[in-house]
Amino acid sequence: MTNLMRLIHRRMVFPAFESLFKGRNTLRYWNELEQSQWAEPEAIAAMQLRSLRRLLEHAALHSPYYRDEWRRQGLDPRSVSTLADFVCWPLTGRETIRAHRSAMRSTSPCGRLISKATGGSSGVPLQFDLNEDSHERRTAASFRGYGWAGAEPGSRQLYLWGVPLGERSILARWKDRVHQALHRRRVVSCFEGGDALTARFLAELTSYRPDVIVAYVNPLYDIARRLLERDERAPYAPHSIVVGAERLHAFQRDAIERAFSAPVFETYGSREFMLIGAECERHDGLHLTSEYLLVEILDEDGRPAAPGTEGDVVVTDLHNLGMPFIRYVTGDRAIAGFDTCPCGRGLPLLRAVTGRRLDMLQATGGRMIPGEFFPHLVKDFPAVRRFQVIQESADLVRFRLQADGMAGADRARLERVVSESLGSNVRVIFEPVDAIALTPAGKLQVVVNRLAGPSREAA
Ligand SMILES: [Zn+2]
Repeated sequence: MTNLMRLIHRRMVFPAFESLFKGRNTLRYWNELEQSQWAEPEAIAAMQLRSLRRLLEHAALHSPYYRDEWRRQGLDPRSVSTLADFVCWPLTGRETIRAHRSAMRSTSPCGRLISKATGGSSGVPLQFDLNEDSHERRTAASFRGYGWAGAEPGSRQLYLWGVPLGERSILARWKDRVHQALHRRRVVSCFEGGDALTARFLAELTSYRPDVIVAYVNPLYDIARRLLERDERAPYAPHSIVVGAERLHAFQRDAIERAFSAPVFETYGSREFMLIGAECERHDGLHLTSEYLLVEILDEDGRPAAPGTEGDVVVTDLHNLGMPFIRYVTGDRAIAGFDTCPCGRGLPLLRAVTGRRLDMLQATGGRMIPGEFFPHLVKDFPAVRRFQVIQESADLVRFRLQADGMAGADRARLERVVSESLGSNVRVIFEPVDAIALTPAGKLQVVVNRLAGPSREAA
């Protein structure tokens, strides 16, 4: 019965809505992507080059910002005859988009423009635009990527997610409800944490019996940890769990899989591009949305980073003609080197997303410590519920700690290891707090770096 409902939904209810009611091409794009993922890597690269050349020619003609900038630098889109030719083209940072948004928009009609904003977890939200065709394509790409985890439209999905805060109009709430019913989705907001959230989420899980859980990493890990501490398991096991929005550590994956008795599928996305990468059933890296996005990992000198080393994630959206994102520096960090997957899909694998550039802390002597160092350190202190490391200046770090009855000896040990990791010239202030607020999007910001971050804008 469940499978029949899923089939009816996927084959009838959903297509009727998407294609007839909204007149969208989403389903056609989704079908195309289901085919193209099996193409040879060379064929996918050739497809990227064709789309890239088209994008550059479009931007040179219709986007005043890129037209003027490239003319000034003597760059001609016709000179790009291989993907390697593209690596010397200028990077685009958030500040550039903030300063030149209107001049970046296409002056040629390419469908209705949709305006969006990033959640602003890095500080100020970024406003940007995309054309409708790009929106349809990225929606299709997320259907495919989530489908690898069995979470395509039509599956029953229980979300543990950041939901919009504040007063919502009746119309907005009604729209949310229609959207959720259409997508067979139930949403539990992750804003309030603790035992109350655990109880509410497990109650929904038992009554709704979803095919898949879709969750932010940290709140789901917190629930898993509470279960495992009591030596319990979730009362119902979904087929799979999709996590995203926050960095997933191996110890978190392990705890979530044990507590919920289901495999975890990591995803990597952003507001600017939606789904950038997702795991297939092999769990061996993230398949990139390469038909639509050109993803590069660059070293400190702006050259392609050597395989196995960490670098900056730079993305070109091959289909957002409404407001081209060309070599956009996302602020994310990842391990370079694209592998092929034994599953047979030709889409290259991104080995691992390691965090965000803003998540790095500066230790004594300018040495950089990746933000992921701290979750690894703190996981061995079970009393710690949440924590946040704030770099106030080059020689001052505040460590905010929300803990349940932490023993004095443990606290002293934690303080010692944190101080040692930052070195003798950085003073650390430990600050016990009752709660650590989440970002407006419901994410836990583990590291807050108030130093002017190293910008890639000028590179
Ligand atoms: Zn694969």
